[in-house]
Amino acid sequence: PPDVEQLGRATWTFLHTTAAYFPENPTPIQRTRMLGLLMALPVLYPCSYCAQHLGERINAHPPDLRGGRVSLSRWLCERHNEVNERLGKPLFNCSIKSTDERWKDGPSD
Ligand code: FAD
Repeated sequence: PPDVEQLGRATWTFLHTTAAYFPENPTPIQRTRMLGLLMALPVLYPCSYCAQHLGERINAHPPDLRGGRVSLSRWLCERHNEVNERLGKPLFNCSIKSTDERWKDGPSD
């Protein structure tokens, strides 16, 4: 079976980076494809208990892609924090400044 920690780091890197670079004003196609990507995870993510928990959290907090990169980045950060909390890891600041600094722009100074 896959290494759940390595798979997790790689997947979060992909998802947070893709969210950070998602358009401010996504087209209907971009919104639909992003929704498909997110909704595929509870079905296909190759850690079954991770996939199941994510599915429960997505049902409780469905993503709204109309808000573009800012709201998607926050939504994903919140879902990641729910996993962090369960694992006893520190919570991340979900402001766009903080997620962009980590996943898009790097530190400003
Ligand atoms: P990770 O949690 O992988 O984070 C990588 C980097 O992201 C961090 O170093 C930090 O810079 C940044 N970061 C941290 N939190 C946030 C945030 N909220 N928003 C933005 N950036 C952030 N593991 C389990 O044991 N059980 C599970 O149920 C489980 N579910 C998972 C569900 C999904 C969808 C994914 C992708 C992973 C899941 N994992 C699960 C794996 C787990 O989340 C971690 O990836 C793994 O434990 C490695 O943790 P890490 O400390 O290296 O950092």
